[in-house]
Amino acid sequence: MSALHLYNTISRKTEPFESLLPGRVGLYVCGPTVYGPPHLGHTRGPVVFDILRRYLEHLGYQVRHVRNITDVGHLVGDVDEGEDKLQKQARLEQVEPMEVAQQYTLAYNDMVRLMNVLPPGIEPRASGHIIEQIEMIQAIMEAELAYAVNGSVYFDVLAYAKNHHYGKLSGRVLEDLIAGAGNESRELEGQEEKRNPNDFALWKKAGPEHIMQWSSPWGKGYPGWHIECSAMSRKYLGDEFDIHGGGMDLLFPHHESEIAQSTSCTGKNPARFWMHHNMITINGQKMAKSLGNGITVVQLFSGDHPLLAQAYSPMTLRFFMLQAHYRGTLDFSNEALQAAEKGLQRLWNAAALSKGLKASDRNEYTAADIAEACYAAMNDDLNTPQVIAQLFEAARVCNLANDGKLALDQENIAALQQLFHTWMEDILGVKEEQAADSGALDAVMQVLLELRAQAKAEKNFALSDAIRDRLSAAGFSIKDGKEGSTWSKT
Ligand SMILES: [Zn+2]
Repeated sequence: MSALHLYNTISRKTEPFESLLPGRVGLYVCGPTVYGPPHLGHTRGPVVFDILRRYLEHLGYQVRHVRNITDVGHLVGDVDEGEDKLQKQARLEQVEPMEVAQQYTLAYNDMVRLMNVLPPGIEPRASGHIIEQIEMIQAIMEAELAYAVNGSVYFDVLAYAKNHHYGKLSGRVLEDLIAGAGNESRELEGQEEKRNPNDFALWKKAGPEHIMQWSSPWGKGYPGWHIECSAMSRKYLGDEFDIHGGGMDLLFPHHESEIAQSTSCTGKNPARFWMHHNMITINGQKMAKSLGNGITVVQLFSGDHPLLAQAYSPMTLRFFMLQAHYRGTLDFSNEALQAAEKGLQRLWNAAALSKGLKASDRNEYTAADIAEACYAAMNDDLNTPQVIAQLFEAARVCNLANDGKLALDQENIAALQQLFHTWMEDILGVKEEQAADSGALDAVMQVLLELRAQAKAEKNFALSDAIRDRLSAAGFSIKDGKEGSTWSKT
């Protein structure tokens, strides 16, 4: 078994993973800005980093997983000027900003729980870490890499760039940023306070209309979006930790600025590995409110949206996402989701079948080869589509053995059963839905199969065929073998 390799955005290479402390991994993932109901675009990040965490734990690491809640400071348009996303929604809904944050934090956590994402060990809120953020801003000012103007504080990108590389993560070139930034941002209010249009806010002065504000050495205000993640990751994971994750849309300016802030305070790039997952498109288009294709997870799970041909279950969505590599784009369509639903059902059927296989004294297939291929795929930058291809191979083997076309001994049958359990449930994190009913269903089906066997024994073929045909019409297929009949969902 090869060792785990992960693609590191900062080196643009797939590198062997080694933790800073033996046996322990610090993982920070940028969480949601909680100002609206979670939509399809919010589902990929939690699942991708859940797979990473589950696999690290499977390999024996103890993982400290931190995923923040952004409940202040993330402004509309992801820039330094404009209204706070939370405050804007609160005004529209005529509630306290904290009510908005609470409502959508609960909605987000409901969504990730339904998708079988393990909860993070620590889920810090930006509004609960104002002191840490102020302290960090002070340290950056002491390093003379930030300046205060009219109650706001800005990070001095040009001063930082004298001794550091601003753009090392995103590959952006500062000269190009300077040339490009002038025109679009000149009209934005407050830009004249900055020494350079690429400087970004660490602290913003709050006007009296601003509900969310705190006292600071620079007067009443609120923190910038980027400083939150620097302050919270440092508090819980230290000056330097193993992995920082997020969506590719956060590469610039958010993560680039996080590196600049942390480096200004500690002299260190905070994370060894920077991992970014790609985005979800819908029928080949970017998701946007203006295109009317912003599907919320509630709509997805209920089927209540004009673009949806049916409801899709949380596990169908999870399995669909794992069929693509996390760094590739993922295009959502009804056809793709329906195929995922069928594929997942095929794997569950095979997993159930593996439990009833009869051992032969001969053996014609080595199940350990499949497990080895699964490890090789995961070790190659979490190649889940390859793992799933191997599970389909295992399903093929189970079906052949069940049809009496392939001989398996007890050792290899046990290995197949273990394979489905370890890879589907523990590592890919899919679970059988309606698990509570499946035991009862199985019992009912056994009664029907026994009645049919009895009818056959009495040569009442009209009845035995009728039972088979009625079950087939209801979506169950019956297979007759030497050892009796088995059933599966079609
Ligand atoms: Zn962040």
